[in-house]
Amino acid sequence: MNRSQLVGEMKKRVFEANLLLPKVGLVKLTWGNVSEINREIGAIVIKPSGVPYAEMKVEDMVVTNLEGDVVEGTMKPSSDLATHVELYKAFSKIQSVVHTHSKNAVMWAQAGRAIPAYGTTHADTFYGEVPCTRQLTNEEVEKAYEKETGKVIIETFAENKLDPLATPGVLVYGHGPFTWGETPQKAVENGIVLDEIADMASMTEVINENCQSIPDYLLDKHYFRKHGATAYYGQK
Ligand SMILES: [Zn+2]
Repeated sequence: MNRSQLVGEMKKRVFEANLLLPKVGLVKLTWGNVSEINREIGAIVIKPSGVPYAEMKVEDMVVTNLEGDVVEGTMKPSSDLATHVELYKAFSKIQSVVHTHSKNAVMWAQAGRAIPAYGTTHADTFYGEVPCTRQLTNEEVEKAYEKETGKVIIETFAENKLDPLATPGVLVYGHGPFTWGETPQKAVENGIVLDEIADMASMTEVINENCQSIPDYLLDKHYFRKHGATAYYGQK
């Protein structure tokens, strides 16, 4: 495939993944965005800013270079583009980023708390707790808010020595979730899982305020039967 065919395929995938967000209940109004990167051809495709999902068309998807400069399309890219760009630069193995304000994940972000791995539903997708960043400073918000949002996520992963492939999502303090994956579809799925486990964790703490994270051997069993060289879950 040549460059324009590859970009065309990216636009379709990004468009469809964006439409999935309201369909699966992760997004209301225009609160969400999906992007995909192809580093070889130097392209990022992202949702246009503020366009209602019902009116959005494939050709509205905005194409930028790896720095986030628009190279194709007449619409303005999602205002969160700079966050996506920072994540792509730092996490070289991810191909798609999703941002939503899904309610359950936002509640944990607003509480400023990482989500503990209370069960195997969590461990099937996230190897350990889902981290929450620190609060952005006044200066960071004023200077380059969206870019600094990306940087604080990267800082959180560096400080906690987290692998973005094993922890495919994060909560930004006082804001909400970002998830990622190898494809837009996968990144949206990780967003769905994150919202579900956030909901389950909230209620788990209501039912038992002394609840504990699952032991490492169970976390390992569930994560590694689905991921990595020794995975055996699903069809061959
Ligand atoms: Zn947001």
